[in-house]
Amino acid sequence: MTTAKRRNLVGLSRNELAAEMEAIGEKPFRVKQFWHWIYHQGETDFANMTTLAKPLRERLADDFRVWRPEVVREQVSKDRTRKWLFRFEDGNEAETVFIPEDDRGAVCLSTQIGCTLGCRFCHTGTQALVRDLGTAEIVGQVMAARDSCGEWPSPQDERLLSNVVVMGMGEPLYNYDAVAKALRILMDPEGIAISKRRITLSTAGVVPMMDRLGRETGVKLAVSLHAATDEVRNRIMPINKKYPLAQLMKACREYPGASNAKRITFEYLLLKDINDSPEDARKLVKLVKEIPCKFNLIPFNAWPGAPYKTPPVARAQEFSRILNDAGYSAPIRVPRGRDILAACGQLRSDSARVQRKTGAV
Ligand code: SAH
Ligand code: SF4
Repeated sequence: MTTAKRRNLVGLSRNELAAEMEAIGEKPFRVKQFWHWIYHQGETDFANMTTLAKPLRERLADDFRVWRPEVVREQVSKDRTRKWLFRFEDGNEAETVFIPEDDRGAVCLSTQIGCTLGCRFCHTGTQALVRDLGTAEIVGQVMAARDSCGEWPSPQDERLLSNVVVMGMGEPLYNYDAVAKALRILMDPEGIAISKRRITLSTAGVVPMMDRLGRETGVKLAVSLHAATDEVRNRIMPINKKYPLAQLMKACREYPGASNAKRITFEYLLLKDINDSPEDARKLVKLVKEIPCKFNLIPFNAWPGAPYKTPPVARAQEFSRILNDAGYSAPIRVPRGRDILAACGQLRSDSARVQRKTGAV
């Protein structure tokens, strides 16, 4: 049977997998075995699923497949950051990044091809939205990253790919259903088993979806704040006109599970002469009052044609000091993978179907 006719099992929930088994006359308890092969062992070939009887393996191979996105390009930065360009079945492409640290590492997942939000500083934002990624395509990024790092079966303790950050291309809360389902698969303890404490989702501030994310997935929240006033934020992030700061701060205060032990991360991009003054830092302290939070200060990562500049180091340090003095952790992030355009906000895909957004920066 052709590939197109064979149904992909990656990205199905346990219930959906059980329904597929029932449809071919198999017992639903097989799901547990499959789950183990697919998500714990990382096996893609039914012939190797040796706990299943041989005739069943052959039958499965006729009807199903265990899919991965195709690796179009893999680049490794001087600092060991890796970036993959993955191709999906309709020919569209997206980038995924792996950021290794000494004792752990984070995979940065894309959730959309392009983005509708058009933040002025973001390379992804210069692309129109082509489409949302499906659950299989989101989970498939982690699985393909694992293939590439040789990290199967899912290790119990020390892992290269220990964390997930949903901070790649696209706005994850505009593709909520596929993203939440993917997170449930990644967190399942009998499979890839990445705990919710090791998953952080970043949103540009889709206020109506934040509560649901917290309740339904329990993952950590990061918010791309980038400005302390509506006036500045409106200029650099058009979504602020829809969900202004007062609403965004309220949703943060009410984020389920946020506490001093599980703080919200405010990402704050430092753009030279736009939002990097000591006055901005002081306004920020007032803005986040009563929210259990910490800051990540991100020096702007330039990309070809970008309209902003990175502030001088001393300016960033002063900004950080003001936040520290008010009691907040506010490290200045060392950009990773800049030489391969893998740093925050530098991702972009150039598949043939991607049109440039007219009038975008
Ligand atoms: N759409 C989501 C997640 C993806 S963007 C969001 O906006 O939060 C991940 C992070 O990179 C965001 O904080 C985003 O504001 C930041 N970013 C975008 N462009 C950047 C750039 N040029 N330099 C540094 N960070 C950037
Ligand atoms: Fe979209 Fe996030 Fe980039 Fe804004 S920063 S354009 S929301 S991907």
